[in-house]
Amino acid sequence: MLRTLDSAGDLSSKRVLLRCDLNVPISDGVITDDGRIRASLPTIKRLVEAGARVVVCSHLGRPEGESNPKYSLAPVAERLEELLGQPVVFANDTIGVQATAAVKMLEDGGVAVIENLRFHNGETSKDDSEREDFAKSLAELGEVLVSDGFGVVHRKQASVYELAKLIPSYAGNLIASELEVLKRLTTEPARPYTVVLGGSKVSDKLGVIENLLPKVDRLVIGGGMVFTALKAQGNEVGKSLLEQDQIQTVKGFLDQAVQHGVEVVLPTDIVIAAGFDRDAEFRTVSATEMETSDLGQDVMGLDIGPESAAAFAHIVRESKTVFWNGPMGVFEFPNFANGTKVLARALTEVNGLSVVGGGDSAAAVRALGFDEEAFGHISTGGGASLEYLEGKSLPGLEVLND
Ligand code: AMP
Repeated sequence: MLRTLDSAGDLSSKRVLLRCDLNVPISDGVITDDGRIRASLPTIKRLVEAGARVVVCSHLGRPEGESNPKYSLAPVAERLEELLGQPVVFANDTIGVQATAAVKMLEDGGVAVIENLRFHNGETSKDDSEREDFAKSLAELGEVLVSDGFGVVHRKQASVYELAKLIPSYAGNLIASELEVLKRLTTEPARPYTVVLGGSKVSDKLGVIENLLPKVDRLVIGGGMVFTALKAQGNEVGKSLLEQDQIQTVKGFLDQAVQHGVEVVLPTDIVIAAGFDRDAEFRTVSATEMETSDLGQDVMGLDIGPESAAAFAHIVRESKTVFWNGPMGVFEFPNFANGTKVLARALTEVNGLSVVGGGDSAAAVRALGFDEEAFGHISTGGGASLEYLEGKSLPGLEVLND
C-alpha cells in the first residue's frame, strides 16, 4: 500500500521536504511551459494549509553535478510565487548555508525552493554510497519527505529513493492521482482500448509495446518510430528516422500482434520533406512510395499524412480508453504539426478515458493551444508512465510502499 499524505498525521510546524518535478523548459531565462509547476500546486497548497514549513526541491535539466546558472531553479521559484500567490524564498544552494538559513527562517505555512538537486553529483550518481551521502545532507533540511515528482519515480536517485528511507516519507497528491489513472489503464480498461505511440525512438517504446500487446485492442503507430515499422514491412523510407537494429524486433511484434488479435494501425500516407528543416519543401505521398517523390536524395518523413491523421482520429474517437505517448510528427515545425494536432483533438473527443502520457506529448498539446481540461488526464511523467505500463517496478514508488 502506498503511503499517502492522508496517513502523514499533523504536519503543522514540521519542516517538510517536498520533492517535485519542476523540470520545465526554459528558453533565454523564460519558462515556456509551466505545466509541471501547476501540476505541483495542489500538494504545495495542501502542505501550506496544513501549516507545514515547505522546502521544495527539484532537478532541472542535466547540469551533470555542477553549478550552472543555465539550470538554476530561480525562474521556477519566481513563477511558483506568482501561481501560489504568496512569497517563495529561493536559496542559491542546495545543501549549503543558504539552504540551511532559508529553512531555518521558514514560518508555518511558508515556502522555500532550494537550488537544483543535480548541481550535486550525489543526486544521480551510479555509486550507492555517493547517493546515500547526498540523501543524508538533504535529510538535515527536513523532518518529513513528501515525494511528488512523478516524472522521476522510475529513477533510483538520492532525493527520490535513498532520502525516502532516511525520514518518514509519503506520496503527494500528484503521484497519487497519476497512479489512480494509470491503474485504470492496466486493470480492466473499458474497451475498445487503443494505445497510440509516436515520438522519435522505437527502442524507447519496445518494452511498452511488448507489455501492452496482450492487453490492447488497437496499437496505432506514428511519429519518427513509424519508419522502422514501415521498413519492417518492406517499404523504403529514404532518410527518415530509422533504427536499423530494431527492424527484426519490430517485425516480431507485428507478427505477435496478429496472434493476439491486436489491430496494428500504421499510416497510409506520409508528409515527406526535402530535409529536416522548418522551411523544407514538402509533399504528401503514399506510405509505400516515399522514395518515388521528386524531393531529392534527402527525403524524409516528418509527419503522418492527412488521410492517416483522419483514420487515427476516427479510431481514437471510437475508443473507450486511450493512452497516447509521443507526437505524430515534428510538431515543433508548423508544416509538420498537423498529425499531432488532429490526434490531440480526437483525444479531447473521447467518450471515456483519454490519457496523454507525459513529456513531449504533454508539451505538444499545450504548445498547440489545447485546453488541458479537455483531456481525461495529462501525465507529467513520460518515462515514468511508460515504465509503469511496461509493468516495471518503479524505485521511487516501491520505497513509499508499506
Ligand atoms: P520522444 O521524446 O521519443 O517522445 O520524441 C519526441 C520528438 O520526436 C519530438 O521532438 C518530435 O519532433 C520528434 N519526431 C516526431 N516525429 C518525427 C519524425 N517523423 N522525424 C523526426 N522526428 C520526429
